[in-house]
Amino acid sequence: MRRTVVMTFLLWPTLVGVTALAQTPPASEIDAHIATARAAAGQDYRATFVNLCLPSAPPAGRAGGAGAAPAAPQTPDRANWYAPPFKVFDNLYWLGTRQHSSWALQTSAGIIIIDTNFAWATESEIIEGLTKLGLNPRDIKYVIISHAHGDHDQGAAELQKRFGAQVVMGAPDWDATLKRPATAPGGVPKRDVAVGAGGTKLTLGDTTIQIVATPGHTPGTLSYVFPVRDQGRTVMVAYSGGTLTGAFGTDGARWDEYVASQRQIAKVAAEVQAAVMLSNHSEYDGAYTRARLIAAARQPGESHPFIVGTDSVQRYFTVMAECAMASKLRAGAK
Ligand SMILES: [Zn+2]
Repeated sequence: MRRTVVMTFLLWPTLVGVTALAQTPPASEIDAHIATARAAAGQDYRATFVNLCLPSAPPAGRAGGAGAAPAAPQTPDRANWYAPPFKVFDNLYWLGTRQHSSWALQTSAGIIIIDTNFAWATESEIIEGLTKLGLNPRDIKYVIISHAHGDHDQGAAELQKRFGAQVVMGAPDWDATLKRPATAPGGVPKRDVAVGAGGTKLTLGDTTIQIVATPGHTPGTLSYVFPVRDQGRTVMVAYSGGTLTGAFGTDGARWDEYVASQRQIAKVAAEVQAAVMLSNHSEYDGAYTRARLIAAARQPGESHPFIVGTDSVQRYFTVMAECAMASKLRAGAK
């Protein structure tokens, strides 16, 4: 009985709150940004909304983004992270763990690896993954790193050393990377291609990746748009290179830079009509789950599990920008 009473009290304010929200305009600027982000997120981008918009510390084990690599974990139990590789598009292959994504973009002149992973996943996910899919790791020509945090960059030095791949990174993130000790997990790559604030286009064979500098999560974070083929039809991908804002604090300029970056990549994504939204965390783009759906036979007319449409891609970046604006206000940043 006592429990029933407590439950009633817990439920009523929630119901009243929802009703009030639906009927009255947002009470403050923070609420307005959060409401916009929530609407943009819908069910598709719920984890991105929760992690960016709700006022809690970043989840344990992930860096808030001050440019430092997260503490290097010992190799965790493989049972908790290993995932087999999948061919996702005609020319795009997923080489991720259950948590983090690495991708192989096959071109007419070799392979571009997009993000690596922790050093402990390089061999089993990227190198063995390519081989399992019938690709040759020796064909890796470029490794593009979205930002210099260990969960995305620790495989870069190994792929550079073993296969002669050129490593591409944002210039400020190269500066941070080159300060690491030689004993850093995965080693330290040699500086190859540094992308400045203006971004760049990287062409290999028949494929061009447009690289957009999106500073914020780290000072050198890169995001991309690039073409993939779905049963021969070209579809454009938008790739968001860095997400969390937990370390920004009262640094107003950093919040503003992040918001401007999201608007910039959203604009480029709109220009090319990007209809696939990728992140480097499965938590945000569902890559681990969606990759498995590829194996299911598609009915005629049924869309590809990763093709979410141009509106959905735009909504993703709206979530990022609006949550950052809310969080900046909440942090009291000027
Ligand atoms: Zn990061």
